[in-house]
Amino acid sequence: MTSSLAFADPTVVNLPTGAPTDTAVVAVQRMRDGFDSGRTRPVAWRRAQLRALRRLLVENRAELRDALYADLRKSPTEADLTEIGILVREIDHTLKHLGRWLRPRRVPVPLVVLPSTAQIVREPLGVVTVIAPWNYPVQLLFAPLIGALAAGNTVVLKPSELAVATSSLIARLVPTYLDRDAVAVVEGGVPETTELLAQRVDHIFYTGNGTVGRIVLRAAALHLTPVTLELGGKSPVWVDDTADLASAARRIAWGRFVNAGQTCVAPDYLLTTPAVAARLEPLLVSAIAELYGADPRASRDYGRIVNVRQFNRLAGMLDQGRLVTGGLVDAAELYIAPTILADVDVASPVMTEEIFGPILPIVTVSGLDEAIAFITAREKPLALYAFTRSRAVARALLTRTSSGGVGIGAPMSHLAVPGLPFGGVGASGMGSYHGERSVAQFSHEKSVLRTPAHPDVLGLVAAPYVRRRTRLVRRLVSTLRP
Ligand code: NAD
Repeated sequence: MTSSLAFADPTVVNLPTGAPTDTAVVAVQRMRDGFDSGRTRPVAWRRAQLRALRRLLVENRAELRDALYADLRKSPTEADLTEIGILVREIDHTLKHLGRWLRPRRVPVPLVVLPSTAQIVREPLGVVTVIAPWNYPVQLLFAPLIGALAAGNTVVLKPSELAVATSSLIARLVPTYLDRDAVAVVEGGVPETTELLAQRVDHIFYTGNGTVGRIVLRAAALHLTPVTLELGGKSPVWVDDTADLASAARRIAWGRFVNAGQTCVAPDYLLTTPAVAARLEPLLVSAIAELYGADPRASRDYGRIVNVRQFNRLAGMLDQGRLVTGGLVDAAELYIAPTILADVDVASPVMTEEIFGPILPIVTVSGLDEAIAFITAREKPLALYAFTRSRAVARALLTRTSSGGVGIGAPMSHLAVPGLPFGGVGASGMGSYHGERSVAQFSHEKSVLRTPAHPDVLGLVAAPYVRRRTRLVRRLVSTLRP
């Protein structure tokens, strides 16, 4: 079993994030009043909020890109692709299908309750808290907001204090675009989040590391609040000799080094045979050069590590294997070069912790069975990737391993498909969202049975159980016979 990840340190001093936002107590009370006012019930209101969120993103695209650059040196194109664009698409998809998703769904009824009709009705939960991390600080705060608003909830947003510029920009923009009585922003770090978690709400949606995930779950238990936990883990990549290795190397390198490796669904380590590893190593080196040039530090497209703490943690992993390429660091710039490690010790931190940075270790195994044994001996990952042309291999991986999602032939892209639920399993999380799953996640699915007064079928099966009725009941429950 891998150790759980310990990124958040309650002793870390929080950075100031500008003008103070609402306190947790004030925000939750306002959201409670907002929900009780009934304003979120009409579908027209929900659509208007989603359109307002779309305007917030589009009209402030330049400012959002600047904030992401300031926090993570995120390339503006990457910001468009992985933060703003993905949200706009999610909003459009939701607006297009929301009517259908909210329509009550008829289900068949058994003979014994005829002539009733049965329906599943989605109703909002109430007040939702969304706590987001720093690595995709716009996407991971607003993607759950889309589903929560579409389902008719009011929402308290808690951006990550580690993406300082993005957090304060969002705190400024949200009240100017969205209904203040339905969406609130609470900025801050551990003390503010602790206070927020102490409030009674109707759902908590947390994205981040598993250590804090446990804190969230404990806090939620006090009020019996349901939670969604979007956590991380070590997402493995299997590559075999049937794959187009040059293409696999390019895609794996992109997936690993986008956002300087700080992506929850990034390929965390490669599993392959020694023969394939020998062919992959030079291909990965040239793929990195293709992506970021001979000197990635000079590339405008290559990001930086979020803070000194993460930088030091990652820098400590660079000597935990044979350096195939990379290994260069610049502490002043929080720069770590795209790095490939081979011959790693599987007991070292680079293989026991989620890396969450621009380092890709290669682990060699004798073949697929050993790779599957390696994967299943560890916590269930958020994603599993395979590069193979063999359907049998893909099938074996699908049926013999468990992970939040699977990408065969491409890392990370599965989360851009709104029709695919996105979430983890086991240590990588619980619950899922995106598209219709988001609306389901932020709704209670209420069972409604409507039974007319006549004909009185119920009366026919109620006491007194005279012979005629007993015979009828027996016939109706004949399925009880062995
Ligand atoms: P982080 O440090 O920004 O923490 C996330 C949130 O938790 C923040 O809003 C922070 O204020 C709050 N928090 C931190 N410590 C707390 C405490 N002691 N009590 C209460 N709240 C606290 O981000 P992180 O956790 O370092 O993010 C990286 C992790 O998140 C990785 O494990 C990554 O895999 C995971 N992640 C998962 C997904 C996903 O969708 N499944 C997406 C991104 C990141």
